[in-house]
Amino acid sequence: MTLHWTCEARDGDARAGMLHTAHGEVPTPVFMPVGTAGTVKAMTADAVRATGARLILGNTYHLMLRPGAERVARLGGLHRIIDWPGPILTDSGGFQVMSLAGLRKLDQDGVTFQSHIDGSAHRLTPERSVEIQHLLDATITMCFDECTPFPATEAQARDSMELSMRWAARSRAAFLPRDGYGQFGIVQGSIIPDLRRRSADALTQIGFEGYAIGGLAVGEGHGAMFATIDVTVPRLPAKAPRYLMGVGTPEDIIRAVARGIDMFDCVIPTRAGRTARAYTSRGVFNLRNARFAEDPAPLDPACACPACTRHPVAYLHHLFRAEEMLGPMLLTWHNVQYYQDLMRGLRAAILAGRFDAHAAAIRGAWAKPLPPDPSACGANTAAFDDREGQ
Ligand SMILES: [Zn+2]
Repeated sequence: MTLHWTCEARDGDARAGMLHTAHGEVPTPVFMPVGTAGTVKAMTADAVRATGARLILGNTYHLMLRPGAERVARLGGLHRIIDWPGPILTDSGGFQVMSLAGLRKLDQDGVTFQSHIDGSAHRLTPERSVEIQHLLDATITMCFDECTPFPATEAQARDSMELSMRWAARSRAAFLPRDGYGQFGIVQGSIIPDLRRRSADALTQIGFEGYAIGGLAVGEGHGAMFATIDVTVPRLPAKAPRYLMGVGTPEDIIRAVARGIDMFDCVIPTRAGRTARAYTSRGVFNLRNARFAEDPAPLDPACACPACTRHPVAYLHHLFRAEEMLGPMLLTWHNVQYYQDLMRGLRAAILAGRFDAHAAAIRGAWAKPLPPDPSACGANTAAFDDREGQ
């Protein structure tokens, strides 16, 4: 049986379920830490596991260039070399390639581009993207698509979406079904409701194990993003998992779970962890702030990670001020732990039928409304930025 998802409970439109894969079960809603180049930056695989994370993400673009998909396959696959026997989702490389302004050439068959590492020429097509993800041994393979730039005219958005749907059919034809493995289609169509509906219908017609909503968190703003989610979700099969790519802040995630989204990825917790930005049950803090210099309290009393249970927050402040690498390591662990705890709490609340009350309690505990996150531009964008080493 291919990868599948079972629904355990609904509370309004929010869903709790279980993703059944060849590499283990994943309770949903789930947040996937981003392991761009085969590593969740600054964390060992054991540390990632210790947070309770069950599913991580890898990037086709980065891994095909370095160390190379064929090499990863010869070494036994991504699970083997990164010490992660659990499920892995790989993106298709589409977004990163499309973002290489001036370095790529798009045609109906695929994209030719230059490596950002050494300028060498490469080509990605739907077939090659699926082959690379197969060589990596991805549990969940994503369709190769064009992430429509924002803003786009209606004609541009339509042409781009239709190209992505042709590529989705080719991606599906190239995918080799195996027990516990699956492939997700990606809905495109910019912020135009009719295009989003047509895209969702086209993907459903092809048939996938799951459905992602792509092309959001690229500058369209929160209103347009959630309006697009509202248009798209009802057109997707209720029995399949729904993945909102590249989102987001804790508030974005709560709002999207309330709308029936099951899966998320974003570099916010890991990137913020390297820039002294702490996500906590009491809000977001910059640990470089002088007010932490002699604070003996833990960063987050509600958190069981090593940064919070073994050190005063003043020590974390010191590590960042002294530019010690342990600072980013500890804070990345904490931020990933916070996101995993957030998802576990949301899931428990759905199962208990008290999602709204739980969401209100989370927001109430934040000392103030979360300020805009400068890195909250979506995993797609963020993953692209990761080319430079995240
Ligand atoms: Zn912590």
